[in-house]
This record gives sequence, structure tokens and C-alpha cells, in this order.
Amino acid sequence: VKMLDTSKNHLFKSHWSDIGGMDHIKTELIQTVQWRFEHANYFSKSPIRLVSGILFYGPSGCGKTLLGQTLANECKVNFLQVKGPELLSKYVGSSEQNIRDLFNKARSVAPCMIMFDEFEALVPKRGRDSAGVTDRVVNQLLTELDGVEALGDIFIVAATSRPDLIDLALLRPGRLDKHIYIGFPTKQDLLSILRIWTSKIILADDVHFEEDDFLTKCEMYMGADIKSLIYNAQLAAFDEQIQSSTNTIDMFSKLPQSTKMSIVVCQRH
Ligand code: ATP
Repeated sequence: VKMLDTSKNHLFKSHWSDIGGMDHIKTELIQTVQWRFEHANYFSKSPIRLVSGILFYGPSGCGKTLLGQTLANECKVNFLQVKGPELLSKYVGSSEQNIRDLFNKARSVAPCMIMFDEFEALVPKRGRDSAGVTDRVVNQLLTELDGVEALGDIFIVAATSRPDLIDLALLRPGRLDKHIYIGFPTKQDLLSILRIWTSKIILADDVHFEEDDFLTKCEMYMGADIKSLIYNAQLAAFDEQIQSSTNTIDMFSKLPQSTKMSIVVCQRH
């Protein structure tokens, strides 16, 4: 089982300010998840029922994984991240053992958050797999989730672009009982995402993100598209500078940030 323990991995230390837009979702996560870890003493004595786990659902590339990683980092808990299919094995009993190992590991490093990406592949509706492998995985996961509710210091985040495929027993109260839709960014969200991804870049004078025309062209873009738009613009700007530079060695000795960047957006239809 490949597990990513990001507690010592600086690449994944993202903060709320690294996520463009989604203001109401960030607030909801702070109140329902971050507070319970930050004020664990208060919540352990209070009668408030805590959320055991969250399901992020919505189109691919809109920031579900980024939200999970950021949530764990902001809650200052250990983070184990697995892709659903990675836990599945063709050997009898092995997939269930992988689930048990994962939760044992989480318990040993608690407080801990476990994030399942591509959750639908791990826990599809029962009764449809002739070999019964995924049915046993669902049952094992249900057992573990019920144990997690009692412990309180392990939190589950699952992400999927196909919530309709997930076995409904996992989505009941006490299990993954909060479901949050992560959809396409609004124009205002796009602006924040653009600002985040260009915060360390010098833009050409004619780049004005806030112009309605620019944002309209970016309609139907998601966070992942903005990231690749900026990456491609950086490469193009760098290439342009190489073409016009007489001294390539000198050019490479400059910091890439000194390259002024223009942005050309192709509208999506
Ligand atoms: P998938 O379902 O394919 O796993 P996802 O919804 O989990 O996709 P992410 O992997 O979180 O999407 O996002 C893809 C990339 O886009 C990441 O590099 C992420 O940093 C960036 N991104 C997405 N949304 C935002 C956002 N709101 N602000 C900043 N960056 C974003």
C-alpha cells in the first residue's frame, strides 16, 4: 500500500490562502473540522455531534485534493493519502487487509486525517461484483468507519467525481456524513486563482485579469486549467526571450521570474 505521509513533506504544506475562491466552503471546513482539532478539549466535553467524515464531490480538476491536503495542514494533523484503486488487490483478503493496515497506521499517528481519492473505485455499490472483492472492502471500511466515530481523533475525507457510484451505507450519518460539492469556479473565484498562480511572476503590462473580457474567456476553466494556462504562458514567455536573446548563456543565468509574461486565453466552447 502506497501511503503518503505528508506530515514531513513540505510540498504539501498548502494553506487556505493557496486556494482561490471557495470562501464559504473554507469557512464551513474551519468550523466543522479545524475547530474540533484546535479545540479538542472543548469538543470532547460538549454534546455537539461531530462530523466523522466528509465527501468532496464534483468535476475533476476543481480542487478536491487540494482542499483535503490544505485541511489536514491547517488542522495540524498527520495526513495519509491513498487513491482508492491502490488499496484493491486481486488476492483473496488482501484488499481488506490493506484497509486494516491503513487504519492501524492512522491510529498509530493520530490525530490523523485519511484522504481517499477516487473513492468510487474503492467502494462501489454492493452486489454488482461477481468476485465479491469490493463488497468485502465496503464491509471492512464500514467497520473501520464505525470505530473511527468512537475514537474522534481520526478524520476521513473522500473525494470523487462520481458520487452516484458509491455504496450508500458509507454516506449515512456517523460515517461520511457531510457532502460538499466542489464545482467550477465563479468569475470572482477565477480571479483569485489567477492571482494565486501569478503571485511570484512579473506580468506584461497588457495583462489585466479583472477585465470582464478576459474572465469571460476563462469561463468553464477550472483550477487545474488556470494552473496549466499560467505554466504554458511562462514557457512561451521564456521561449520568446530565448529567441530574442543574443546570448543564451546569459539568458539562462537570469531568474525565470524576470521574464515578463503575456497570457493568451483560448475560449472553451
Ligand atoms: P481529480 O478529481 O482529478 O483528482 P481534483 O478535484 O482533486 O481533481 P486537484 O487535484 O485538487 O483537483 O486540482 C488540480 C490542480 O489545480 C492542483 O494543482 C490544484 O492546486 C489546482 N487548483 C484547483 N483548484 C484550485 C483553486 N481553487 N485554487 C488554486 N489552485 C487550484
